[in-house]
Amino acid sequence: MPAALLGKLKALYPNARYYLNFSTPLELLVAAILSAQVRDTVVNATTPALFKKYRSADEYARADLETLTREIKAITFSANKAKHIKQACAILDEKYHGRVPETLEQLVELPGIGRKTAHAILINAFGKVEGVVVDTHVIRVAFRLGWTKNTKPDKIEQDLMTLIPKADWAKATWLLKDHGRAVCSAPVPACSRCALEPDCPKAGVTKRT
Ligand code: SF4
Repeated sequence: MPAALLGKLKALYPNARYYLNFSTPLELLVAAILSAQVRDTVVNATTPALFKKYRSADEYARADLETLTREIKAITFSANKAKHIKQACAILDEKYHGRVPETLEQLVELPGIGRKTAHAILINAFGKVEGVVVDTHVIRVAFRLGWTKNTKPDKIEQDLMTLIPKADWAKATWLLKDHGRAVCSAPVPACSRCALEPDCPKAGVTKRT
C-alpha cells in the first residue's frame, strides 16, 4: 500500500526536493543548524549573506558570537544557534581538518545536530541514505496514513524504513513534507481535496475539510 500511495505522491509532487539552499557540505551543516523550528524560506533568506562572509569552518569558529547572532537574527533561537554553529565548526576544525564528517555517529556528536539533521546532511550533501528524515510534517502525515502508530521520531523512522523501499527513503521525506504543506495540514487536513483519500485511514483525524 505505501508503494502505491508513494507513486501517487510522486505524480502529485514531481519537483519534491530538499528545500534548504547550499553548495557545500559546510553550508548545509550551517543551514541545517539554523533550520530547527523555523521555515526553510526564512533560512534561505538568511544564508546567502552568511555564506558569502564565512567561507570555512575556521572562520565560523573564530566569528564574534554577538556579531554572528545579529547576522542570523531573523532565525528563532538565534543566540543558541550561533553558539552551536561556532562550537560545531570548532570541532570540525580540530578533529576533521575543517571538513564535515560523513558518518551519522560523528555528525550527531556536533552541537545543534540531532539524528534528523544528521540524516539530512548525509543524504543531501553526500548522497548517503542511511535512514528516513522524520520532521513534523512526516510525523503527522505518516501517522494519518496509518504508516506508523508511533509518535516518537526514532520509532517512526524505523517503521518507515521497514515499509518503504530503501530507494525511496530520501524521496519519501520530501513527498510527505510537500503533501503535509499542501493538503494534509495541521491541525485540520483538507481530505476532501486529497488524492490519497480513498486509501487513507485518516488515523487520529477528528476534524477535516
Ligand atoms: S485523506 Fe486526509 S488525512 Fe489522509 S493524507 Fe489526505 S489529507 Fe491527510
